[in-house]
Order: sequence, then C-alpha cells, then structure tokens
Amino acid sequence: MKASERNGYKKSLLEEKERLSAALEYLHAENPGADEEQELELSSLQEHLAEAGSVTLEREIDYSLEEVVNERLAAITKALERIEQGSFGLCVSCAAPVAAERLAALPWASLCIDCKRREERG
Ligand SMILES: [Zn+2]
Repeated sequence: MKASERNGYKKSLLEEKERLSAALEYLHAENPGADEEQELELSSLQEHLAEAGSVTLEREIDYSLEEVVNERLAAITKALERIEQGSFGLCVSCAAPVAAERLAALPWASLCIDCKRREERG
C-alpha cells in the first residue's frame, strides 16, 4: 500500500473516531439519570454485556446503540494501531490483503471478506 493511500485511510479513521466520540458524549448527555451500572468504564461495560448472557431486554435496548458505537471505536483504534505498525490493509486472520473497495467502505475492517464470511457463519 502506498503511503498516500495509507494516509487517506488514516484520515478517514480519525474523522470517524471524532464523529463516534461526539455521538458517545451525546448518548451520555441524554442519560443524566445514569445509575451506577452506567458509570462503569466503557470497556468493562462491553465485557460485562458480552459475559452476561442473560441481560434483561430493557437493558439491552438501552445499551445497544452505545455498544455499537463502542465496538466501532475499538475497531478504529486497532486499525490506527495497524497503520502505525505497517500491517494495515492485511487481514488479521489470514494476512491476505483486504480488498481496496472493502477498506474504502470500512477502513476499520480487520478481516478480508472471506474470513469475515467464515466468521459470520460461525
Ligand atoms: Zn482473511
């Protein structure tokens, strides 16, 4: 990958990160009556959700949007790390190059389309 391409993806990632961070602040501002549970660190909240197989439906709805935003932010952070390490654009599973169209649409994608499909099939 050319440095200019890489810088383009980096710019997209940083912009998306900015946008999602603002969204997260908005989500928090919308919930002034946050209970103790919502005070948890965002990363531990995510783990909490993943581990608690039987969260109540109500709680699931409350957290789903925030969860999506957090997952995306985590993916972006990892993609930025891969840019620094020089492994950006390579599938983290099989090391094949991730298609340019895929990176253009999802610059934080860590898997090539084949591995992604395999993952989705379980
Ligand atoms: Zn792959």
